[in-house]
Amino acid sequence: MISIKSEREIELLAEAGKVVYQTHCYLKPFVKAGITTKQLDKLAEDFIRSKGCLPSFKGYEGFPSTLCTSINSEVVHGIPGNRKLKNGDIISIDIGACFKGYHGDSAWTYAVGEVSSDAKYIMEHTEKSLFVGLNEIKPGARIGDIGAAIEEYAKKHHLGVVKELVGHGVGTTVHEEPDVPNYGSRGTGPILKEGMVIAVEPMLTLGSPEIVILDNDWTIETEDYSLSAHYEHTVAVTKDGYRILTFDKGGQNG
Ligand code: MG
Ligand code: MG
Repeated sequence: MISIKSEREIELLAEAGKVVYQTHCYLKPFVKAGITTKQLDKLAEDFIRSKGCLPSFKGYEGFPSTLCTSINSEVVHGIPGNRKLKNGDIISIDIGACFKGYHGDSAWTYAVGEVSSDAKYIMEHTEKSLFVGLNEIKPGARIGDIGAAIEEYAKKHHLGVVKELVGHGVGTTVHEEPDVPNYGSRGTGPILKEGMVIAVEPMLTLGSPEIVILDNDWTIETEDYSLSAHYEHTVAVTKDGYRILTFDKGGQNG
């Protein structure tokens, strides 16, 4: 069952989403060579709690941290630790926050210092693919339209689409129905309706889209160690399109 949220629920989801966005903005200046991912995690957790929210991922199915921090060829679910960021790294930071029982979920990929043209390329086009997918969203469109648009965009730019990991509904749990794949066929899948809330989250790779799970049972990496980027927003389906909930009206994304 795909739930339809009331206006009041959407405002609570938007409040959670705003804190997720603010956490990204707060962390951004700290994403520099020399900082450890564990230090970023502590900054994020303290910030989220200071806003009256709880970190959505900490304890979720046993995940130990507030952030998922995935560096270079790591795709998602990297566990913060003592690894220090280096100039030239890219790091995908996935943040979830829960406000009064409602979640927001958003990931951005950051450059650490000066990065390669390959890194710039995958960051730019993964972010664009997110918006290409989001622009399909309106009542009457289908989940498959989103994935088809992302997949077409990725193919056109010679990027791999990770298929094992998908976007999802968001509500009083951080992951709920429906699945929102980053591939698919137009005109297939559940029909979007006003009041549905979904996270769209392309994970693209510079090389093969095949992935492996590391020994910690969480971190997912590209099989060929090619770079990967990840951008995600939680959005509500509105009367005539969509509203990004993991955003703050006063701010700019990225
Ligand atoms: Mg996420
Ligand atoms: Mg997500």
